[in-house]
Amino acid sequence: MTIQGKIALVTGGSRGIGRAICARLGSMGCFVWVNYVSRSDAAEETIEMVRQVGGQGQAVQLDVADFNQVQDGFKDIVAESGSIDILVNNAGITRDGLVARMKEGDWDAVLDTNLKGAFSCAKAAVKPMMKKRWGRIVNISSIIGFSGNGGQVNYAAAKSGMIGLTKSLAREFASRKITVNCVAPGYIVTEMTQDLDEAVREKMLSEIPLAALGEVDDVAAAVEYLVSDRAGYVTGQTIHVNGGMYM
Ligand code: NDP
Repeated sequence: MTIQGKIALVTGGSRGIGRAICARLGSMGCFVWVNYVSRSDAAEETIEMVRQVGGQGQAVQLDVADFNQVQDGFKDIVAESGSIDILVNNAGITRDGLVARMKEGDWDAVLDTNLKGAFSCAKAAVKPMMKKRWGRIVNISSIIGFSGNGGQVNYAAAKSGMIGLTKSLAREFASRKITVNCVAPGYIVTEMTQDLDEAVREKMLSEIPLAALGEVDDVAAAVEYLVSDRAGYVTGQTIHVNGGMYM
């Protein structure tokens, strides 16, 4: 089966890495549901990009941190599109701070969005995938989930958690020909990383063997492979896209 004509849903598709993934899936012939939480203008711009590369898409406003909203929203999408074949759990936030100063709400917000959100979306998406006995789930983790990072205990815990989530889902759904994999980006140029001060940026560059920050298309290329037919025998794995910063 080729992925031409498949129905894809990308959480946090309105900006950054998610937007590049939407465009890539659109160029592969998918219908792309572009999820966002607050920036409908940005989601519409993504859809325009999807159209420009020959794909089709529609925006869907859902807060992935809200379990019930996700279950109901995915049901509506399946009713309208007939299926969800490809799910990319990309939506993510940061609420950084040293543990001593981190508020409970900062922990909860990051875990609820980045980890529970991926669980809620996967739970809702596997139903139509199981019926079709075909599916692709790609979770966007992070280098921080592997290396840890002072000031990011919440983010690191959520992104490490995604690895366990991925492997367990991969085992649970392999018999239904649903593959579940991770992409773990390093430092990619997006709104999430644009406010780094110059000293931090320079230090980071000195730690990256390929001596450059990554681009959103570098991550989209890994997703492109994982959702393709060529990756049909790959499940429970992580592709690191980080310029060699973590090996
Ligand atoms: P951005 O901050 O540029 O974009 C975040 C996206 O997530 C937006 O589309 C936003 O929607 C959406 N979003 C945030 N919260 C929710 C929510 N509750 N429900 C639905 N959508 C939500 O992030 P990046 O593109 O930089 O990051 C994308 C993913 O990649 C994240 O999971 C991040 O952790 C991960 N990552 C990023 C790295 C980087 O260097 N940039 C490195 C490693 C991992 P809206 O536009 O409506 O606000």
